[in-house]
Amino acid sequence: MSAESTHLFTAHERSFETSRFVYPVVSRRSHGVSIGVNLNPDKVCNFDCIYCQVDRVEKSETRFVEMPELLRELDEMLAMVTGGELFETAKFRDTPEHLRRLNDIAFSGDGEPTTYRNFDEIIAACAELKRKHGLDYVKMVLITNASMFHRPAVERGLALLDANQGEIWAKLDAGTDAYYHLIDRTTIPFRQVLDNIAAAARVRPIVIQSLFMRVENVPPSEAEIDAYCERLNEVAAAGGRIKLVQVYTIARRPAESFVTPLSNEEVDAIAGKVRAKTGLPAECFYGVAL
Ligand code: SF4
Repeated sequence: MSAESTHLFTAHERSFETSRFVYPVVSRRSHGVSIGVNLNPDKVCNFDCIYCQVDRVEKSETRFVEMPELLRELDEMLAMVTGGELFETAKFRDTPEHLRRLNDIAFSGDGEPTTYRNFDEIIAACAELKRKHGLDYVKMVLITNASMFHRPAVERGLALLDANQGEIWAKLDAGTDAYYHLIDRTTIPFRQVLDNIAAAARVRPIVIQSLFMRVENVPPSEAEIDAYCERLNEVAAAGGRIKLVQVYTIARRPAESFVTPLSNEEVDAIAGKVRAKTGLPAECFYGVAL
């Protein structure tokens, strides 16, 4: 390694380690690298899901999104992944060759990304950076609880995603109002979320992400999963398109100790019911013993 590249490597490693808004993840699921963009560094969310992994007890150092700094970090990270420098860093050195491709830029982080006030502006600026790096094929994934789609700035942001290989992964963790409030612990009405999902799915096909678990050792009832399948069918009946249902369970230790994973068989059974009752494709993501 030449002196110059050593210098570059060191500088990049330092800035990567201290990034506040952008973080790379190697994802076997997406067969490549996903660059996460955190639009909620203040760790504030309009949901308080019982399975959330964000540690809200420990205060964050960064409270607000500084857009120029976020874009600088993303610019640098895109260069690091495409130039291969990321894989010279200690953390990513062992990444297998076939996973060293950039799959997506994912808007997720420590809260609900669509609550960010200038959501459309940030999506536009990130899409512009993606273009600048010649990465038209790279997806932009919005991981969302679907609570804010009705806001004009979010609607504009979703349209920008559509124009830039965007994909919407919307959370739906329940079939009934009571279970939704038990799991997602929010003041946002279930009806609002369901209407938002249907409205977004009418414009483009979306992915549904659902996380089921044991609460105080009790898995969701058959009736709850039946109701959940009915909610999915209502999206289709309203003219919405769902391209995939992802059925998850707990894979990392959540904040609440009374939440534990389902068995692989239980996850399979839910996905099987989704396929049988809705005709939609469903993928399973299993848990780990905690
Ligand atoms: S919506 Fe996401 S970030 Fe917010 S509480 Fe739920 S899991 Fe956590």
